[in-house]
Amino acid sequence: MHPLPSGCAVPDHGDLTKREHPEPPHPYRLPFDRDRGRIIHARAFRRLAGKTQVFTHRYSDHFRSRLTHTMEVAQIARTVAAALGLNESLTESLALVHDIGHPPFGHTGEKALDRALRRYGLRFDHNLHALRIVEHFETRYAEFRGLNLTLGVREGIIKHSRDYSAAEHPELAGYFLDQRPPLEAQLIDMVDEIAYLTADFDDGFEAGILSLNDARAGVRLFEQFYSPMQEKYPGAREKLVFNEALKRMLNALVGDLIEETCRRVDAAHVSTLEAIRNAAERLAAFSPAMEELRLEAKNYLYARLYHAPELEHDHQEAERVITTLFHAWVEDPALLPPGHAAEVVAEGAPRVVADYIAGMTDSYILSRYAEFTSGRD
Ligand code: MG
Repeated sequence: MHPLPSGCAVPDHGDLTKREHPEPPHPYRLPFDRDRGRIIHARAFRRLAGKTQVFTHRYSDHFRSRLTHTMEVAQIARTVAAALGLNESLTESLALVHDIGHPPFGHTGEKALDRALRRYGLRFDHNLHALRIVEHFETRYAEFRGLNLTLGVREGIIKHSRDYSAAEHPELAGYFLDQRPPLEAQLIDMVDEIAYLTADFDDGFEAGILSLNDARAGVRLFEQFYSPMQEKYPGAREKLVFNEALKRMLNALVGDLIEETCRRVDAAHVSTLEAIRNAAERLAAFSPAMEELRLEAKNYLYARLYHAPELEHDHQEAERVITTLFHAWVEDPALLPPGHAAEVVAEGAPRVVADYIAGMTDSYILSRYAEFTSGRD
């Protein structure tokens, strides 16, 4: 459907395969393939299975966790990278690691942790936390801390969704902050949007929170496929017609991303990594028409799903659990496990407690909260 674009094949990655601690080449695995393996074998990656994406397990075991969301992003990202002639292993590694820094309880958990840290003049940022995980908290090797990932993967972890200024983040100076990241990293944010927009429609309907007719009226990108599928499959169950529409919506977003990115690469006459880095703006993008439809769908999900009264109970609980434990442990860091308590002198209690909480799964933090509140009675 989308012929391999000409002029889109992008460049060799040279220095991006460098590691902080040099390692001899592997006999049959390339550097980004090794990174993908290291990410999949990381403890933080396994914990994604126990972290909420949008719905807690109270709703259904069928719904996405952060791990299955991550796998959906990886699957779509590989498709896009292959169609654009990009490095599939780098892209897949970045997709697999893109949410590794998320705390328990989805975005509510992230906001609660950020709010708690602000009282100490600090912030929580899941991209920066992901970098701390792969550089510091994962300990698998005798010779160094962290996973010793390539520069390309570490840069992508930081820059897949936003840019950071060197003035605010001098510690990130080695990551080309005044330049665009490679296309493989640029894609991840857009693919993440495609994956969660479509998945959240799916789970939102299954949960009975979104209504079909309301979505058809409010989301053109959905209705433009639902209506023809209803005509094509007049006797089919509603959910199957819905599925047919949703997969076409996903394909439309992916196809548009591939074509528009290719168009921009062609228009900018870009053929080297250096040119991608120095382009005036990121080149991976949706077309303006699709961007408008995507925003409409996203705003719809915010209004009808992410802020739905049905999810309010979970949001309040997440906020209460994170805020209570954060302040209790900051006030008395001796309650932390010894390994974390030992970091307090160097990092300060608020950052250490935030790191500790951010690593937790939903069920683990709930059990710690239950312990804490029972001990308080
Ligand atoms: Mg994501």
